Parts: sequence; C-alpha cells; structure tokens
Amino acid sequence: MIKLSNLICILGLTLIISCKEKHQPRYPVPKDAAASFNIIYDSLSNLHTTLSPPNDDDWLKDHPESGQTFKEYIHSKPIGLTATRTKLYLAILGDFDSIQQNMVKKTLEYLSIFYACEAELISIEVDFSSIPKKYFRYNENNEIQVLTDFFLKKLLLENLPNDAFGLIGCTNYDIFPDPQWNFVFGQASLHNRVGVWSMNRLEDNTHATEFKEKTTLRNLKVASHETGHILSLKHCTSYECIMNGSAHIDETDSKPVYLCPICLGKTHFNRQFNLTDRFQNLESFWNRNKISIYHQYYEIVKGIQFSVH
Ligand SMILES: [Zn+2]
Ligand SMILES: [Zn+2]
Repeated sequence: MIKLSNLICILGLTLIISCKEKHQPRYPVPKDAAASFNIIYDSLSNLHTTLSPPNDDDWLKDHPESGQTFKEYIHSKPIGLTATRTKLYLAILGDFDSIQQNMVKKTLEYLSIFYACEAELISIEVDFSSIPKKYFRYNENNEIQVLTDFFLKKLLLENLPNDAFGLIGCTNYDIFPDPQWNFVFGQASLHNRVGVWSMNRLEDNTHATEFKEKTTLRNLKVASHETGHILSLKHCTSYECIMNGSAHIDETDSKPVYLCPICLGKTHFNRQFNLTDRFQNLESFWNRNKISIYHQYYEIVKGIQFSVH
C-alpha cells in the first residue's frame, strides 16, 4: 500500500527563523481574554464550516471526542512561551535526502509563521539500527515501524533544549502509537513540550525530484497539527480545522490548513500574535510556494480589522 522512500544522506543543518513578538504572562488569565476571543470568533465564524458527522472510517467515528472549549483551554494552563522558553525547535531524526531536507526547511518556515514564533532547526543523532526491540516492529510492507514512545518519552525529552517551549521531531520511518494501532501520521504530548511526525505515509505517489503540492500540504498540515498539540490544543470537533483528528490520508487531505475561529482564539491567547500580520505572512508563504487553494481565504481574512492586539 505504501511505497518506501529511498533514504540517503545525513545532514547537519542550522537554520533559525526569528520573530519578534512581545509576550505577556498569561496567568492569572487577563480580564480581557474572553472579550478578545469573542472578537476573533465573531469576525471569522461566518467564513468557516462546521464539522459534519464523521464517515465510517473517519477519526471521530472511532474516537468520539468531546473537543475543547476556549474556556477549557485557558484553564488547562497550556504549554506556551515563558521568560526562558522562547523557541520552537524542529529536529531531524535520521537520514534525510536533499528533497526531504528541503521539505523540513519549508515546514520550519511555515511553523514559524503559523505560530508566530522563533523557530530553529536542529539535528538529533539517532542510530535506528540499535533501537531497543520494545520500540519497533515491522509494518505491513515489512518496513521498520517505530513506537512513538521512543521519540516522545525518550529521544526528544532527552534532547529538549532548555529554551524550547516546544520540540517537534520529523522522521521518515513509519511510526505507531500503540501495538493496537496500524500507524499514526504524528503524535504529540499536550504537556511535555514534544511531538513527532512521520513523512513515511505522506508522499504523493513516487518520490519525485520535487515534492508535489499534495505532499507539501500533508507535511505542513501534520506538523502544524502536532505543534498545536504541543501548545496543549486538543482535537477540534466544532469546525473544519487543522486541529481535527485524522485517521487516514483522505481525511488529512480534506481538512484545511488553517485554524478554525475557536482554535485560532486559543492560539492567539497563547501566542499573542498580531492577527493581521499573521494572516498576511501566511498568505505570502502560500504565494511564495505557488500553492493557490487557500488564496481566497487569506485574501479575505488579511483584510479584517481585529480590535484586539
Ligand atoms: Zn492530533
Ligand atoms: Zn478548530
């Protein structure tokens, strides 16, 4: 079913993307938090589509989740920036070829814009041939498949930089979260500042000389979704949203790249970005990458005057 990429090359990349954002403490919760959320919600809700009942093989059919309100989110004391934890790190886990390296760099840039944060690429050395047996098995294509615990409870935690509010790893090995599961596209901790995604099942057909648009969208969707979890956002069950759960690749393809108004409100509470600047930067990103399917959305939202900071 899934074609294994030929993986070559080891890399040592240093790439830093910085954003200058003021950041005030979020606790105790500022008095205007609910009012700011309401402004965001009222400004955007008519542009978004509520989530339809799931099909038989969709995420919510097997995982009937209740979602997370804005109030629940802010009272969960979500992971976010602190005085000393100011950066998002993206770690390359394993050997990537030049095309995959470019995809990771593109993802780093996107995450930096999406979450309006300083983002840095690092490489964590990992010898997959010596992973303890309890952390891997073979998938249906006889490829090595790595248990996400290896990344989330061991490798990433052991390599978490002191100034990281989050560390997301990218691997090209197939991954699974539990022996009962076939695979997972990505997984993250809501509380431990780490997450991981796998490129293994995201390629559109063959490993072409350049990643295709669909492959790019899939990687950006999964990486931004898992980073949302790192910021303690739970799955969204209200709107079509990047924070919707995804059980199969068609479900990943069908969900939008953007946050719904509720999840944007949570993320804005956490990150305190300028909403218009963020929308403009996202539109520029998609234009630079010649991906036009979200052009109309960003054309509209970048023009909205939000009376919140
Ligand atoms: Zn998720
Ligand atoms: Zn949402």
